This record gives sequence, structure tokens and C-alpha cells, in this order.
Amino acid sequence: MNRERIDLLVTGASEVLTCAADAPDLVGRITDGGVAIDAGRIVAVGDISGYVADRVVDAAGGVVLPGFVDAHTHLVFGGSRIDEYAAAVAGVDPPDDVPVGIMGTVTETRRYSTADLISQAEPRVIEMLDHGTTTVEAKSGYGLSDATERKLLQAAAELHRRLPADIVSTYLGAHAYPSDVEPSRYVEQIIDFIPEVAEMDLAVFCDVYCDRGFFSLEETHRILKAGRDAGLWPKIHLDAYSHTDAAAIAIELEAASVDHLNFTPVHELELLADAGIVGVYMPALEFSVAHPQPFEPRVAMGVGMELALATDMCPGCWTSSMQFTIVLACRLGGMSVAQAVRAATYGAARSLKLDGEIGSLIPGARADLVLLDVVRYEEIAYRLARNAVTTVIKGGVVVREQAA
Ligand SMILES: [Zn+2]
Repeated sequence: MNRERIDLLVTGASEVLTCAADAPDLVGRITDGGVAIDAGRIVAVGDISGYVADRVVDAAGGVVLPGFVDAHTHLVFGGSRIDEYAAAVAGVDPPDDVPVGIMGTVTETRRYSTADLISQAEPRVIEMLDHGTTTVEAKSGYGLSDATERKLLQAAAELHRRLPADIVSTYLGAHAYPSDVEPSRYVEQIIDFIPEVAEMDLAVFCDVYCDRGFFSLEETHRILKAGRDAGLWPKIHLDAYSHTDAAAIAIELEAASVDHLNFTPVHELELLADAGIVGVYMPALEFSVAHPQPFEPRVAMGVGMELALATDMCPGCWTSSMQFTIVLACRLGGMSVAQAVRAATYGAARSLKLDGEIGSLIPGARADLVLLDVVRYEEIAYRLARNAVTTVIKGGVVVREQAA
């Protein structure tokens, strides 16, 4: 038999998960299959007997699945809020002179140069890669001035160039009102800045924090419409702390995702699901802030909503691990392990409009995959607080490999 020569074969897996959109078991589990890769793309999954390769990676009886996609992070910021967190867990007020909340981080972030912001965010991306994340959505939003928002977006672009993880940027000038500009004036600033963000390719998405005390329905609509007109797809921080009615805006403007959803009533979840909009669930954020009303993924999935998982890496929720996020989604949110793994791969890719390209191991997709030293994929949610990743392949290139 004449076998086709390609770049890379992954063999010796106990399970390969395709996480294909239409997988009946949600994760497309194949036993005793492999993955064939050429020119950075997947050419075959399952039966790979028709191929020989220059390089063979042995999964050593472990699980192979798509690289994790982290659907919602605030990756680039300055400093930390360790004092606020330590006070919160002790149930006391933080000292007066430490950074607290979004504005505390904005004040810190504005002090740093772009190079400083890159060097602070770079270890976070490296840690994400080490934990099997190959694509990271990253929002600006700790600058709240054109100059600092530009620096945050430029820092994310530099990290994308420098590291093997893909960084997909979102402009979130509408994260909060800055304390030094009148709110209505700041909304105009955001709208005026959007064309530059689009022309300079600084972001793919435009996001607004719509909630009580944050941006109003009218402001949310204006900002997202301006973004869409400039070619930036809308996303919304929706109903995290109150019910806003902004679900209607997400549907009208065809948002790529709606994120948080803690106070979204079930009939609105159903309308969002019918519109094909992905819901982004961030159980680590809810855990980290002890959220008073956790999102209920079973209710959303019950009305047909596709969910994405995300770490929400930010100064208020410091985790880079999608495996930890899966643990919490299962144990605290009541997702099955299959539902959570699908949300951490296919669902998250869809929230970035990248399904078919990443998040699934299917012929033609980018060869972003991880190898785990577990025999069954359910162990991701079962063996707590451990990193099961042994190998990370990004675009067909081995970028992380544990010494044998
Ligand atoms: Zn957020």
C-alpha cells in the first residue's frame, strides 16, 4: 500500500476527541485513533493508516483533544489586586491605599509603558500555553483613555506575534466610566476611537459592560452599532449583576457572544439561543468573587444555548487554567464533563466566530491540539488542581513537550 507522506502523526492515544459541531456525544470520542497533520492543518482524524510522517508524536496512552480556547479574558493590565482579594476572603475592608475594583486597576495600568504591560502579561500567556490553551480572547478596558486603550491593544498584538498562542483582541473601552471624564463625553470618545481600532486591526470584536451603574441600554446600542459599522463584531457583558434588557440589542446587532448572563431570564436565554448567539460561562470568576447569583448552565443548555467556557483571567479572577475552569463548570455549574469540554473547545471557538478553524479536530482545521496524561477525558474534571497537559501542538508545530 502506498502511504502518503505528511509532516506529523499523533499516535498511541487512548481517546481522540474531535469536539466536532455535530458530535452526538458532544465531544466526538474516538478510541484507538490518531491525528494526521500536514502544513499546519489536520488532514485526517481516527484512521490514519494511509499516512507516514517525518515526525511521530506518541500520546503514550493518553487523551488527545483540540487546544483549549479561552473565550473571555482581560489579559493585559498593570499590577494586581492581591490586597483587595486577601481582605475579601478574610471578610474585612481592604486598606485605604491599595487598588480596588476596575478603577484601582485602571490607575495602576496607566502608570506602565507598553513594554511594561507586555512583560507583565507575557507570563500569563505562557502559563495558559502550559495548561493547553492555544487561543486566547483578550479585552482591553483597563485604560479608559484612547492612549492607554491603544497601549493595551498593542500589547496584546505584540504577545500574539511573540508567543505561539493566538491572541484575539476585543476593544472594551466601555468597561467602566473613567473618573476623569464626564460619562456622556466618554461615550463620544469611545465612538470616535472605534474607526482607528478597526483601521489599525487592533481588535476583531467590540464589547460593552452593560449593567446597573455601568453603560446604559442606549449607550450600549450606540457603541456596539458604531463598532459593527466599522467591522468589529459585538459582544456584551450581559446581566452580570442586574437584568438589563440588553439581550434584545445582542439579537438585533447579531452579537458573537453574550457573557455572564447571571440575571438573564429564561425567555431571553431562549431568544438568544434561537438567534444562535453563544453564551459565555465563567465559573472561576463567580468562584473568585463569590458571586451572589451564579449562572445556571443547565437552564441555558435546556433552551438550546451553545455555551463557551472562559477563565475570565483578570485582576479579580487570576487563573490561566481551562482545566480548572472545567472542574468548576462541572462541580459548581452541573455541566457534564462532555458539555464542559465541548464548551472549552468548540463552543469557545464559536464565540470567537472561529468554529471550523479551531476548537475541533476535523480535516481542514488548524492543527491546534493538546495531549493529556489521562486515560479517559472525564479525568480532566475528576483529578483536581493538576495540569494533565504533556504536549501542545500549535499550527502543526510542537510548542510544549514534557520530557519523557
Ligand atoms: Zn469581562
